[in-house]
Amino acid sequence: MENKPRKPADIGPRIPMPEQPADERVRNFSEVTLGFTLDQAVEEAERCLQCKKPLCQKGCPVEIDIKSFIAKLVDKDVSGAYEVIRKTNSLPAVCGRVCPQESQCEGMCILGKKNEPVAIGRLERYIADAFMASDACEEITGTHECALVREDLQVACIGAGPASLTVAGYLASKGIKVTLFEGLHEPGGVLIYGIPEFRLPKSIVGREVNALKDLGVEIRTNWVGGKTITIQDLQDDGYDAIFIGVGAGLPRFLNIPGDNLVGVFSANEYLTRVNLGRAYDFPNYDTPTFKANDVVVIGGGNVAMDAARTAKRMGAERVSIVYRRTQDEMPARLEELHHAIEEAIEIRALCGPLAFNPGESGRLETMTVQKMCLGEPDDSGRRSPVCIEGETEEIPCDMAVVAVGTRPNPILLEATPDLELNKWGYIAADPETGETSMENVFAGGDIVTGAATVISAMGAGRRAAQEIAKRLL
Ligand code: FAD
Ligand code: SF4
Repeated sequence: MENKPRKPADIGPRIPMPEQPADERVRNFSEVTLGFTLDQAVEEAERCLQCKKPLCQKGCPVEIDIKSFIAKLVDKDVSGAYEVIRKTNSLPAVCGRVCPQESQCEGMCILGKKNEPVAIGRLERYIADAFMASDACEEITGTHECALVREDLQVACIGAGPASLTVAGYLASKGIKVTLFEGLHEPGGVLIYGIPEFRLPKSIVGREVNALKDLGVEIRTNWVGGKTITIQDLQDDGYDAIFIGVGAGLPRFLNIPGDNLVGVFSANEYLTRVNLGRAYDFPNYDTPTFKANDVVVIGGGNVAMDAARTAKRMGAERVSIVYRRTQDEMPARLEELHHAIEEAIEIRALCGPLAFNPGESGRLETMTVQKMCLGEPDDSGRRSPVCIEGETEEIPCDMAVVAVGTRPNPILLEATPDLELNKWGYIAADPETGETSMENVFAGGDIVTGAATVISAMGAGRRAAQEIAKRLL
């Protein structure tokens, strides 16, 4: 691609990405966004300024060479672009769909200062999808350029979410044998059991997982670390290093009156039933779920958006999101918030949950919320919610989904007393290497940081894998 200096003001707006209309998509679980065509992707890629000092790369936690992959896409070299991305990112089709690009690469894009930033995430998604759909896939995965050359070295990962999958991809590419031990019956972590089909189709995750299997990675499902296998067992079995990537999947509740009423669920349970159990296709699949007409979801992050949009697709007539601050402070990805509003999900901002109230049947019938206003910024930099004394509201609802965060699951931690935890109960690990208090035991992702993002879990996996490779090779 020729590097002609251009001014941001001379460049047109972003190329819109086709998506299902809101009134149609709320009746199905198919993916909402449909992806670019080649022409649209190239047109969007041509908006890139090819900056001498591109800030976008610094904004990416795994530092993808964004400028180079975009240049290859402009030349319609999809395989070349994919190769650039795969050097630092093992799950590009996933990241292109779920990363909060507005606060990462696109948030740093120089074009974005005076114009709309380049749609980097959508281009990454296009390249991953186009590459996988073509025979070019064989070029990288099929030829086993990374065939296992060091069968004598073996690494175990506990959990098979994005953190462990990244460790596996990196080490397998160095020829090291990696085995993943996953507690559930499918690998993928939150990508499979949390994020709904309409945002991240399971087939996409499956394809990325298969690419890892092609590199020789072994995945054993239904193995619960701390119950069916312990870290000591893995050490006794001769694993040279162990990576813990078990996430933080234990839901938090609100601890308010009515928390235990029939009709009050954690987002974790609700989304797992619908996603992993495929309750949206009941009775073709075995898992049923609660049917409701008036749904209230409590929280303001991606999990809350996913729960609300799922409830709408499961047939609820009215769905609202109760959040203590204003819409501007919501931590959800902008695209998810935008899609939720398009799907007629009401945002009840500045409302704090006070109680879930039963009707005569004993089931949830209403929820009482406290009206709030914004006060001074707190530690997170966001203005904190302050109660407006005496102002409350009762919201009719037959289902409430609580999406106010998670904690670490204690199973593995309690079975491993030598593993040092930090004051919040997560594993204490070196942020640069993932090293824990136990020799050759590493950790990364949500089990170290608390609930965060896919790409931050992948970044942690990558750093740990680099350290493991340095020690073993
Ligand atoms: P996880 O993805 O949680 O994977 C951990 C794996 O370990 C799981 O498969 C679990 O079953 C397994 N496991 C747990 N305990 C054991 C054990 N004892 N033995 C064996 N296996 C075990 N992030 C984004 O960037 N963008 C989004 O749009 C986004 N949306 C989200 C939506 C939802 C509904 C949720 C819940 C999270 C979302 N996130 C999003 C956050 C993101 O998914 C997580 O930060 C990320 O998945 C963490 O990766 P991880 O590998 O650390 O853990
Ligand atoms: Fe292109 Fe934006 Fe990166 Fe510059 S900062 S190279 S315009 S994507």
